[in-house]
Amino acid sequence: MEHRETLLQYFEWYLPADGGHWRRAAADAPRLAALGFTGVWLPPAYKGHQGQADVGYGVYDLYDLGEFDQKGTVPTKYGYREEYLSAIRALQENGVQVYGDIVLNHRMGADESEEVYAQKSAWDDRNRDTSAPAPITAWTKFTFPGRGGKYSNFQWDWTCFDGVDWDSKHRASAVYQFEGKEWDHQVDGEKGNYDYLMGADLDMSAPQVIEELDRWGKWYLETTGIDGFRLDAVKHIRFTFFTHWLQKLRRESGRPLPAIGEYWKDDLGSLTYYLDQCGQVMRLFDVPLHHRFHHLSSAGGGMDLRSLFQGTLAETRPDQAVTFVDNHDTQPGQALQSWVSGWCKPLAYACILLRQEGVPCVFYGDLYGIPHDGIPPVAELPKLLLARKFCAWGQQTDYLDDPDTIGWVRRGEDAAMAVVLTDGPGGSKRMCTGAGMAGEIFVDLLGNRKERIQIPENGVADFPVSGGSVAVWIPERMAQRIAEAVSAL
Ligand code: CA
Repeated sequence: MEHRETLLQYFEWYLPADGGHWRRAAADAPRLAALGFTGVWLPPAYKGHQGQADVGYGVYDLYDLGEFDQKGTVPTKYGYREEYLSAIRALQENGVQVYGDIVLNHRMGADESEEVYAQKSAWDDRNRDTSAPAPITAWTKFTFPGRGGKYSNFQWDWTCFDGVDWDSKHRASAVYQFEGKEWDHQVDGEKGNYDYLMGADLDMSAPQVIEELDRWGKWYLETTGIDGFRLDAVKHIRFTFFTHWLQKLRRESGRPLPAIGEYWKDDLGSLTYYLDQCGQVMRLFDVPLHHRFHHLSSAGGGMDLRSLFQGTLAETRPDQAVTFVDNHDTQPGQALQSWVSGWCKPLAYACILLRQEGVPCVFYGDLYGIPHDGIPPVAELPKLLLARKFCAWGQQTDYLDDPDTIGWVRRGEDAAMAVVLTDGPGGSKRMCTGAGMAGEIFVDLLGNRKERIQIPENGVADFPVSGGSVAVWIPERMAQRIAEAVSAL
């Protein structure tokens, strides 16, 4: 079998802040391997400014993986450092690679404030100043007294940052740019210059910042033995930063260290531009495809399915696309809420798991549900994952030719698979499974359809689908094998 990846984002926003997540991940490792996952993306493992309540993106200290008494707690939301390291080892021992979540754009929860001269940048045009430089009080000094210099003596001050969004002298918020600093060039062009996102924004042109991030990357890699990286907020970071950071780590470690960037924009041109600017050192999450799914989910059957993959990374740069349905930012209540609703989940997951383009990344909130919002797991997911593992192989023939009903066929060595999905009232699709399947009985793995279809001599058959659903037609022998594997999980 060729090597092929299947990823899992192993967290959602509202996990209980009980320090138990690393232990759960370790215990879950054999089951994740059995489901066919080859890689797991774990949440940011370092101490955030909200202590144990921090999901991990409000980074305070990158060296505190749940080891030091800082921000009111030793463990992070997910547990202690040793438990993190144990979870990584348990996953790796089960043949599952681990992706660390790398958050380098901003810092929060400084230990001390500093008096700094700063001018305000216009909210919607960051290239335009709206005030003259004047003194503000900025929280920019990170001394990490709770860590006491272990692992790194580096202390951050305002010279490491381009700006902040809070002046505690005047108790006022705005986008404050420090006098003498410029927003990093080569960032996303939204708001004129989208360098600044939040917190104390790192100056990626300051040599001491680059040196410290290199030092930390080496430490993190050696400490954790992580296999790859998920890179947060790359559109707010100088486009060539990770070219340097990743290639240095790869060169020095001699390891491939695959990376996935989060460039959050529903615009294919911005994504391909970024990939080319960074030297294609990473893959990107297929944000446009997520938005197609969200549109499909909310269009009341009105989407033209022929356009489902148009303008997506999966279609344009399949080798650099990491496809996903939802994540911790798109789930209900979160910053980029664009949740794909329940009826549409099996359709969307069939698209990312059973087609050849892109590396799929399944969301924890879909595999396990989101109790905080009463959202149940996507019941079809284990079967779809095993259908990927056993049946989604070989040549793909597309039938993306109808506004309401589309399908595709995979022809593996052992079995063919015919997938048909609709956002309309239902119908069928005439597709060719190949003459090699002649005489086989095909059934719908998901059980939405009860027919048993015998494939004729020429391999061509009509594959039905019920309204607003997906049918995954595979040989009955394979459906039985998958049912047995699911019940053994
Ligand atoms: Ca930035």
